[in-house]
Amino acid sequence: MLDIPGATFMHVFIIVTVITVLAGKLVWEAYLIRLNMAEVRRHAQAPPPALHEVMDEQTYAKSVDYTLVKARFALFSNVYGMLLLAAVLFSGVLPLLYGWLGTFMEASVWRETFYVILVFLLLAMSGLPLEHHAQFCLEERFGFNKSTFRLWATDKLKGLLIALTVGAPLLALFFFLVDFAGPLWWVWAFAVFFAFQLLMLVLYPMLILPWFNKLTPLPEGELRQRLIDLAQRVGFKARTIQVMDGSRRSGHSNAFFTGFGRFRRIVLFDTLMEQLSEGELEAVLAHEIGHYKLGHVPKMLTLSAGLGLAAFAGLAWLLKSPAFVQAFGFSHAVDGAGPAFVLFALLAGPFGFWLSPLLNFFSRRHEYEADRFAREHAGGANPMTNALRRLSEKNLSNLTPHPLYSAFYYSHPTLLEREAALAGE
Ligand SMILES: [Zn+2]
Repeated sequence: MLDIPGATFMHVFIIVTVITVLAGKLVWEAYLIRLNMAEVRRHAQAPPPALHEVMDEQTYAKSVDYTLVKARFALFSNVYGMLLLAAVLFSGVLPLLYGWLGTFMEASVWRETFYVILVFLLLAMSGLPLEHHAQFCLEERFGFNKSTFRLWATDKLKGLLIALTVGAPLLALFFFLVDFAGPLWWVWAFAVFFAFQLLMLVLYPMLILPWFNKLTPLPEGELRQRLIDLAQRVGFKARTIQVMDGSRRSGHSNAFFTGFGRFRRIVLFDTLMEQLSEGELEAVLAHEIGHYKLGHVPKMLTLSAGLGLAAFAGLAWLLKSPAFVQAFGFSHAVDGAGPAFVLFALLAGPFGFWLSPLLNFFSRRHEYEADRFAREHAGGANPMTNALRRLSEKNLSNLTPHPLYSAFYYSHPTLLEREAALAGE
């Protein structure tokens, strides 16, 4: 039996905690963004002496402008996102929607699944105007947007289709486990989630990526031979160095590594190929191979498995506490796990946000290690340093982020930090 005053205290406690975390995130992020903007303005006349050669004056001015415009947009979209989240959480729309579904759907795994999909579909739609603005106003203004409205809309539809095809059965399986797998259902649910994560590492580059981009093997020639030689030298069997037509959507350049075992793949953006010399491309490839050889993929997977298991344990605990859903206006008679799942998923972002500096810290350590690997195996420090400089220039990267800002948000060390590390021991 629920003791009413006790329950009321719990409700208030839950609501106050949630509001504190949401407001804390909003205020903290606004603080960091403003701090960063001030730092960028302070250097607006000229970059630090160590970076004078990275960009010419005009490009540097443009990079300052780009950083500030993006920062103002981030301030706005953070407020927008938080107001939206608060409205969804506290307006009573979630219980209303759940009650409405209950009027024509029997309690079942499918009702819960449908409920989750409906909520996240509505949320995704409300984010579209901002995404559109970011691509067609902001990126466009600085010459990075290469997409068309048609391509953008098709991308969104494809993404939705994939999310539904993959997400719906996965959600249904989750709710099935909650109902039928006994008190340790969350361990099973975690196992399914982790197996799915591994599967996606393999399937993403094979099935999903080619649906959005054209991937072609690097053509025969001097460059290919040089890269294959490098791979052989460091003991990396590279059958597949692929070039992706990133230029179809954006002028930004990148390279990445995906998959594991015999499914591993290295993907270079066509934009990257245009911007870098052969020696620099070799260094970038060595960096990517470094991530593989140094075991960064299994390390990050282990970390994410630990966090995933903790998350499922937390969800299981919340599902056992009726006060959690009641605090957000659901009735005592909730007979499915959908509401708790939706609330947990909505709150996972703002609560998990506070862990992001830790994850970024590990990620940056891996970047340093991969840079060192590139230095050892691809012609010393210069090609890597030059590649990083060129990428910063072409992507109009912020050369002077505030240290607190970059420590919190950056998954890669700053250019200055990476150069110093490459030049050092
Ligand atoms: Zn890297």
